[in-house]
Amino acid sequence: MEIPSKLIQALRTARSVAVLTGAGISKESGIPTFREAQTGLWARYEPTELATPEAFNENPELVWQWYTWRRGLIQATEPNPGHYALARLEAQVPQFTLITQNVDGFHKIAGSENILELHGNIFRTKCSVEHTVIKSWDESQGDEPPRCPNCGEYLRPDVVWFCEGLPQDVLAAAIRAAQSAEIFLSIGTSAVVHPAASIPVYALESGAVLIEINPAPTHLTPYATYVLAGPSGEILPALVAAAWPESG
Ligand code: NAD
Repeated sequence: MEIPSKLIQALRTARSVAVLTGAGISKESGIPTFREAQTGLWARYEPTELATPEAFNENPELVWQWYTWRRGLIQATEPNPGHYALARLEAQVPQFTLITQNVDGFHKIAGSENILELHGNIFRTKCSVEHTVIKSWDESQGDEPPRCPNCGEYLRPDVVWFCEGLPQDVLAAAIRAAQSAEIFLSIGTSAVVHPAASIPVYALESGAVLIEINPAPTHLTPYATYVLAGPSGEILPALVAAAWPESG
């Protein structure tokens, strides 16, 4: 794909860049999107039966098993060239923020540093009652969720479920990053899950150049300054190499 020279020049000279990633950037690692993750054994469940506080209260074993299965899928794969290209981009730009809706932790493994995880991280748990974050836990109870070391209640995945609010400090930092970005990249997100989907709009309203990388059009496509239609695992490395040939 031909990358417009004006876009390469804008990226090379930008002092502040913010990025929003969604499930699409991890697809080339083999991680299914949320809907696709409900395959096989899990196909008969509605998302609300697996990813809500009510579902966890009613059937904690079922919800825990689903997350154990998803953690296994992620651990069996690794970040792809798109994740690594974003880490190289961060190294070139004075002010860089990576905002992600993904819970797979791949950006950190790939070397990105200034990461805002809007929807939590599947490799952390928190107490279902006190909400204290617990980073390691004992899997020995089998299908039953582990217990909080402080109060003995169940631990749950530290992710944002349907109907739950985003961590306000993380969301506020993401909006600030979008508002101060000269260039904003929206990558592999369908831009329908709010409030994450509004973040590129803050960037646009503040005058940022908006670049979308996605093989399919989204609600954001008509507003994008540049649309790079294709898989992020191919386009991101090409974009970073075009702007900084020495970085690869
Ligand atoms: P989504 O599933 O709604 O949209 C995925 C987008 O990625 C689509 O627009 C699709 O066209 C695009 N896409 C597909 N292949 C691509 C590729 N190779 N390169 C670039 N883009 C590609 O995902 P979303 O917008 O992130 O929203 C779904 C929610 O599900 C999020 O809130 C997220 O937290 C959660 N989720 C996370 C993960 C993960 O952590 N990897 C996986 C599934 C779902």
